[in-house]
Amino acid sequence: MTSDLRDRAVRAAVEQGLLGGEQPVTALLDVAGLRASAAALRAAFAAVTGAPVLHAFAVKAAPLVPVLALLHAEGLGAEAASPGELAIARAAGLPPERIVLDSPAKTRAELREALALGVAVNADNPQELARLDALTAAAPTASPIGLRVNAQVGGGSIGALSTATATSKFGFPLTDPGARRHLVRTAVDRPWLTRLHTHSGSQGMALDRMADAVEAAYLLAEEINAAAGERRIDTVDIGGGLPVNFASEAHAPSFREYAELLAARVPGLFDGRYGLVTEFGRSLVAKHGLVLARVEYTKSAGGRPIAVTHAGVQVATRTVYAPESWPLRIAAYDAAGEPRTGPPVEQDVAGPACFAGDLLAERRPLPLLHPGDVVAALDTGAYCFASHYGYNSLPRVAVHGWTEGPGGISFAAVREAQAPGEIVAEAGAGHRDALLPRPSARGRLSDPGDSMKA
Ligand SMILES: *Cc1c(COP(=O)(O)O)cnc(C)c1O
Repeated sequence: MTSDLRDRAVRAAVEQGLLGGEQPVTALLDVAGLRASAAALRAAFAAVTGAPVLHAFAVKAAPLVPVLALLHAEGLGAEAASPGELAIARAAGLPPERIVLDSPAKTRAELREALALGVAVNADNPQELARLDALTAAAPTASPIGLRVNAQVGGGSIGALSTATATSKFGFPLTDPGARRHLVRTAVDRPWLTRLHTHSGSQGMALDRMADAVEAAYLLAEEINAAAGERRIDTVDIGGGLPVNFASEAHAPSFREYAELLAARVPGLFDGRYGLVTEFGRSLVAKHGLVLARVEYTKSAGGRPIAVTHAGVQVATRTVYAPESWPLRIAAYDAAGEPRTGPPVEQDVAGPACFAGDLLAERRPLPLLHPGDVVAALDTGAYCFASHYGYNSLPRVAVHGWTEGPGGISFAAVREAQAPGEIVAEAGAGHRDALLPRPSARGRLSDPGDSMKA
């Protein structure tokens, strides 16, 4: 979204009371932006292959039912990696054939459910594959089944998010001694294995390295098919991981750039013989989300101005715990929602949580903030407010989608803010007395008075 459009959305949110006395923090999603990204993704791959492509949105990037329903309406599917994510995708109305189930820790029950539904499954390791051997032998399934391959091409700039390192916990390693030959045999022996899957990481990966992994998966598919003497592997799932630019408005790199790079690097994968699955998350939603928070107080310590706001670790967990890897742009508005002007002053933008590191930004040059002002944390649509962190029992924030029409900007509720009663219920209120000592026959027998009588 451009800054003009964002400014209009912030003003409308303030005018329409989304940031009222009871709601000092709220999150906004740009509906037109989400649709545009979905369309850009589809167009980018349609331009480089005539084969079918399922774009399965990675649910963990924005586990919100209305967002999945919107993306589904825009022609996308969903990638789920837990029973919760699978349930969210189904609640959004996605049919099983539009859903892919990944996860390195699928239980037998989860696998059985996925195969009964017909959801695509990517097996992570030999033990999971043994369970699939038993399940596919016991009952027929419509589920396409694949192998997740770790191409071991190396990591990116963020270690915790790099999944294609030599010792990554994900997938079947490809370059360990003997691994490749064993994988080919594993696939050839199982006619129901029709897919290969690779996902090299998430943010911080160089596009060339991601392409290395896709190429490795393609070459393995070719080798398996040659060994099987038929087109056994018919689909390659290339994962997600397109990095997002958090430094400006620009959507860079674009889906088009990545699709063109892949088509140039791995032409055989795009000549129509292979169907594709993609699993983009962050790059579809990050730039369309915004957290708005009121400044409650301003103060100064050690010569540093500090604005204490209501947005911190609960909505921007990664930024707070790893600020170097996850810097966020912050925009400043006054109490009426108008952009705050004035000379930039280095100041901390702090959150409400009770630990010193709860900062959205440190020494950030911004017009000096005042109590009642509104700060906006930009590009927070992925892996931020949607994946709430419950520290200090801070409530999950409300999420509103916004659209601009002839009559101005209107909002639709995506998720309500968590009410105090819900926090209390989740804190075990229904079991209040569970840990208190309770009188019982045994308790009376062990009464000191009894032993004295004995
Ligand atoms: C997290 C994840 C994705 C999405 O990654 P993004 O960086 O958000 O695009 C896709 N596939 C798998 C298997 C993942 O774990």
